[in-house]
Amino acid sequence: MSSSDSHRAPADPALRAETLAVHPPRVEVTGSTPLGVPLHQGHVFTFASADALAASMDSGDSFLYSRMGNPTVRTLEEAVARLEGGAVAISFASGMGAINAVLFGLLSGGGHVVAQRCLYGGTYAVLADLADRWGVEVSYVSGTDPDEVAAALRPTTRLLYLETVANPTTRVSDIPALAAVARAAGVPVAVDNTFASPLLCRPLALGADLVVHSATKYLSGHADVLGGVVVGDDPELLGRLRHFAVELGASTDPFAAWLTLRGMQTLALRMERHCASAAVLAARLADHPAVAAVRYPGLAGHPDEEIARRLLPDGAGGVVSLDLAGGREAGRTFVEAVRLASLSVSLGDVKTLVMHPASTSHRQLDAAALAAAGIGPGTVRLSVGIEHVEDLWADLDQALAKVL
Ligand SMILES: *Cc1c(COP(=O)(O)O)cnc(C)c1O
Repeated sequence: MSSSDSHRAPADPALRAETLAVHPPRVEVTGSTPLGVPLHQGHVFTFASADALAASMDSGDSFLYSRMGNPTVRTLEEAVARLEGGAVAISFASGMGAINAVLFGLLSGGGHVVAQRCLYGGTYAVLADLADRWGVEVSYVSGTDPDEVAAALRPTTRLLYLETVANPTTRVSDIPALAAVARAAGVPVAVDNTFASPLLCRPLALGADLVVHSATKYLSGHADVLGGVVVGDDPELLGRLRHFAVELGASTDPFAAWLTLRGMQTLALRMERHCASAAVLAARLADHPAVAAVRYPGLAGHPDEEIARRLLPDGAGGVVSLDLAGGREAGRTFVEAVRLASLSVSLGDVKTLVMHPASTSHRQLDAAALAAAGIGPGTVRLSVGIEHVEDLWADLDQALAKVL
């Protein structure tokens, strides 16, 4: 029996129905190539010989067991690596899976991390947990001042952790300036690039060692899948993370990878529309009497306007924060009054989403704690979708009329 025959289902006519049911035929594609990405949903692969299986365990080159690697998941990893301009990517079941692989992969007890103050809530919670339970020390910095990073570094610092655009403040971190300080001290730099997507910003080219994504947001884009990816260039560093990723087990389901890849094919078109519409809406919102302030990195007067011009030349993303003059009650009324936009915690979707942190995700915080997180009582986060911009404006305008 040749080795390729051994991969085929047994075709022995003497086999009983019970056996045949368990061994459907395998149809191999020869002479043509599937245009779409094939979905390899199986979690385990079979080998022609014990030696071939043993060789696969040693080399890690072939597919063996999907927690360690799967062809559809590998396609996603290579696709994201290419977009970010990195050599290697590792895919995860969620953005938090990717973030935990970076934090647990690089930090250990007694280690120190310098992180941007306004972080994604889940990341902040993990850092707090690492500090409480594992003795990891955390210093928070603004994300825009290299001297502050230089002053925070210690001999035990193992990581500088930033986000390209922070939530919901839309502050833009000065990745090149901050990464240069950390790298000079031999400290790796990780950047959560979820808000920008690789279409708007490529942190590896700006001095970062690792880029993380919640692929749940812009990369997949259609509110139908959770995913996360880490990308980098250094094979030693990525090898350590892959080793930890296999232990962690937050592996990507092949169908989730397939959905993400399907979404990513229109990422460039979606980002173009997200950015163009967000810029139009940000400018109109800034002129509306019910709106006290608008925070959008592409809008004149944003505190990081100059950084955004350097780092996000192709568009400032699809997330706009606005502060309603009417405060907490106005925020609640507004997010319930929109009709086209949906009240949802996520972002980066083809559909426009709104969030009012003070009455939902941050409802336990008093005014002072809200202010410390960069959130006002009337702050609304708008994740601008790809609907027609005039339909979106009509919806926002009718909702704003209710809080004038
Ligand atoms: C949503 C999000 C995450 C977490 O990703 P999940 O896919 O929900 O686990 C991390 N960082 C940012 C900036 C996010 O928006």
